[in-house]
Amino acid sequence: MSGQWEGRASGRNSAAWKRLRRFILDRDSHRCTWPTDHGPCGAPADQVDHIDRHGGDDPNNLRALCRPHHAIKTSAEGNAERWRHRERRPTRPHPGFLDQQGVGGAPHPATPP
Ligand SMILES: [Zn+2]
Repeated sequence: MSGQWEGRASGRNSAAWKRLRRFILDRDSHRCTWPTDHGPCGAPADQVDHIDRHGGDDPNNLRALCRPHHAIKTSAEGNAERWRHRERRPTRPHPGFLDQQGVGGAPHPATPP
């Protein structure tokens, strides 16, 4: 994983990319859009991130980020951050355990005909 831009048709240094990049930064008011617990980060942004790195250069797939958050996104720490958010969800017991009531205790009651 290099963390570099995927841009194939429009290289990172192409005039088209520079124009698009400025468009995204303007659209997002040059503020970092990284979601935090308190809403968007809001730090001054000069990075443009591909939300889905296979999603291409569609403006809907691009967002402004500050340097620290862009670094997090493109590094392994980004994965850790995402996993941390996932772990906050309440865990449910594995469905397999639900079938085990009665096991190890009283025998199953006889089923009426
Ligand atoms: Zn940020």
